[in-house]
Amino acid sequence: MRLVRLSVVLPVFSAAAVFATTGGWRWRPFAQPVVPPVVERPVVIESVTETLDTLRRGETISHLFARHRVLDLDLSGLDPALALHPRRLRPGLVFSFRKSGADTLPTHISVRTGPEQRVVFRRAADRWDAVVEPIAWKAEDVRIEGAIDNSLYEALDAQVGDDLLDGGDRQRLAWDLADVYAWQVDFTRDIQPGDRFRVVFERLVSEDGEVRFGRVLASDLMMSGKSLTAFRFETDGRPAFYDADGSSLRRAFLRAPVQFRRISSSFARARFHPVLGIARRHEGTDYAAAPGTPVMAAGDGVVLRAGSAGGYGNVVEIRHRNGIVTRYGHLRGFARGVGAGARVGQGQTIGFVGSTGLATGPHLHYEFRVNGVARDSRRMEVGTGTPIRAGLRADFIRERDRLLRLLQEDTPRAIVRQPTEPADRWLP
Ligand SMILES: [Zn+2]
Repeated sequence: MRLVRLSVVLPVFSAAAVFATTGGWRWRPFAQPVVPPVVERPVVIESVTETLDTLRRGETISHLFARHRVLDLDLSGLDPALALHPRRLRPGLVFSFRKSGADTLPTHISVRTGPEQRVVFRRAADRWDAVVEPIAWKAEDVRIEGAIDNSLYEALDAQVGDDLLDGGDRQRLAWDLADVYAWQVDFTRDIQPGDRFRVVFERLVSEDGEVRFGRVLASDLMMSGKSLTAFRFETDGRPAFYDADGSSLRRAFLRAPVQFRRISSSFARARFHPVLGIARRHEGTDYAAAPGTPVMAAGDGVVLRAGSAGGYGNVVEIRHRNGIVTRYGHLRGFARGVGAGARVGQGQTIGFVGSTGLATGPHLHYEFRVNGVARDSRRMEVGTGTPIRAGLRADFIRERDRLLRLLQEDTPRAIVRQPTEPADRWLP
């Protein structure tokens, strides 16, 4: 019984340690993020006492250990694999000291050192043993769906509560979903009122109760009555997304030369996005983004020019196959190595958003030209993607059908809306 209770109680403390350690880790705190310097909380569970203590600013770990009368634990001799090098220890790191009833000194010390591990010290006869204990994360499939009335951010925000993913992870979900459709959909301008989405994604829950976003598994976008399904599938260990027929979603041209994740949510409002430069004859698409935002080559090609050209300001032109040229204007500057004659690959950074030339504010002016004529890249036939190779087709179909069932289930799967257990519940 004692062991069982411990295994429940301890994770709560270890989780608290995490939040004090780094605010930036990718999970959501469910306990108070601020841990007082010393929690003399004599949690007596059948004669086991646990005390939490925090590494203070300017203090060495020896000081901290000394407070608990641990004088014989030499961290400098530890295996570097433990990732507990004294110099890397930050103030706020929380240690748990445990001792059994009869002991006067701790016999067990643990500290959470990362999302995937904790380090545990156990007192042996005359020395301390240190081991790394992996943290188990369990994946849950979650299905959500809804309308995209304004922006993808807002649509996901409305469907995913704080109890499911925190704000940062909702944003990651939006980014990853936009990446899935990087060749088909420009989420900053293609969305129309009435468009809908369905997504099945993984939500990871650790044994300590932390939550984080995993990955998109499948999705379905219904845009202007057309359905764009995507299924995640790995070939040779490399994940990619495929349509229901097993063709890759990858195409020769990205739908937009600026990543959705680089365009702030205030710019990513589909319906209210201001189109800049409407006063003059306009042969391209404008992307409002912060100065310095990376601009990507929309497809593989060769740089025709990278320099200053009148109203375009700093401009890059890339020649692609089939008489296609893409043009990127108003750049603040060019990426290293991008000059006439340079070969560039799809997605490669070629320059940075600026407001050079005739620009009312920082934005990218993007043109897609076919045989010298500017075309709306949205209306271009994008063709079909490379089909999955024959040897993997049966595997793909199996996985597709599994994901399709998850995607189409009427009732929300798994734990949509299940609140996180309050930490108090586990305390005696
Ligand atoms: Zn423009």
